[in-house]
Amino acid sequence: KTLRVAIMGLGSYGTRVAEAIQKCARTKLVGVISGTPSKVEDWKSKYNIPAKNCYNYENFDAIKDNPDIDAVYVITPNAQHKDQVIRVAKAGKHAICEKPMAVNAADGQAMVDACKAAGVQLLIGYRMHFEPNTLEVIRMRKAGEFGDIRFFQGLCGFVIGDPTQWRLNPALSGGGAMMDIGIYAINGARYMIGEEPIWVTAQETKSNPDKFIEGIDETITFQFGFASGATASCLSTYYMNNLDKFYLNGSKGWAEMQPSTGYGPIKGETHKGPLSEPIVTHQTVQMDEMAAIIFDGKKPEVPVNGEEGVKDMKIIDAIFKAVKTGEKVSLNLG
Ligand code: NAD
Repeated sequence: KTLRVAIMGLGSYGTRVAEAIQKCARTKLVGVISGTPSKVEDWKSKYNIPAKNCYNYENFDAIKDNPDIDAVYVITPNAQHKDQVIRVAKAGKHAICEKPMAVNAADGQAMVDACKAAGVQLLIGYRMHFEPNTLEVIRMRKAGEFGDIRFFQGLCGFVIGDPTQWRLNPALSGGGAMMDIGIYAINGARYMIGEEPIWVTAQETKSNPDKFIEGIDETITFQFGFASGATASCLSTYYMNNLDKFYLNGSKGWAEMQPSTGYGPIKGETHKGPLSEPIVTHQTVQMDEMAAIIFDGKKPEVPVNGEEGVKDMKIIDAIFKAVKTGEKVSLNLG
């Protein structure tokens, strides 16, 4: 069965997803939700989208009466995700939501609850969870090829441009680099180590408090502890380019990936040699896998459901608390 998707938010990432869907085997872009009529016209002709599948932010609840759309992919500024996903759920459509799923764990949980109540699925756009070299490292770890996992390092960042963009407005972003790129190191620590962190410590620095105002983190270093005794040390920043690196150390081996979360190709090696899985367009694989999750009940190697998103939000809440208090913050993610 083909997953018929409408994209909400026709910005830079929405455009990338739309292009990637063109190569999908079982996902089709059939609709749009946008506040900009000129973009809707462009997309209608470019992707052959019928007028009856085009909505704006005011009227998209009417999507509930449209049998030709199965799911809505929400690709808007972070702080809008919660209300938009809840409206999608109330319209009876499956929701795919970009990361971060919300701006805090309570909002994320409200989204999970709304989707459950409506009987629709909620999936988060964690494209790395389907990337072949990443999955190979996870396979090796599960097979015991690295031995006991002892340490993970995740370095994620880029220098952000335009100071007027929504990413630097706390009301729209809910935070700075952590919400945007640091979440990849959080996620990576969890899927590379294969455990949930039980504590976090964190420290913040700012090179430019005028650009990175209160509520917008520029650079945060953070550390996790795990029940096994493993630790992780991570960096999230809007102050450094060429920062996209994962390192995993175990008692029998290691893995190093750089780039580790960019759009690809993901490159890396382990103590056994170079990672050489196929190079894919992340979003193409992601969308077809999501079709299989939604229609076939497929269980992905690393979950991408709303509950998984809430775990990341709980960790981000704890990191911000650790920054503020200077204390070690305990986590109980189950
Ligand atoms: P963008 O600024 O390029 O696009 C945002 C879209 O939202 C635009 O079409 C804009 O018109 C629309 N919008 C609606 N209301 C708005 C408002 N009040 N202010 C600003 N824009 C508004 O942003 P983007 O890079 O496409 O990011 C969108 C989402 O996708 C974010 O949640 C981001 O974290 C996520 N993202 C994920 C990845 C990934 O690799 N998974 C990559 C980039 C972005």
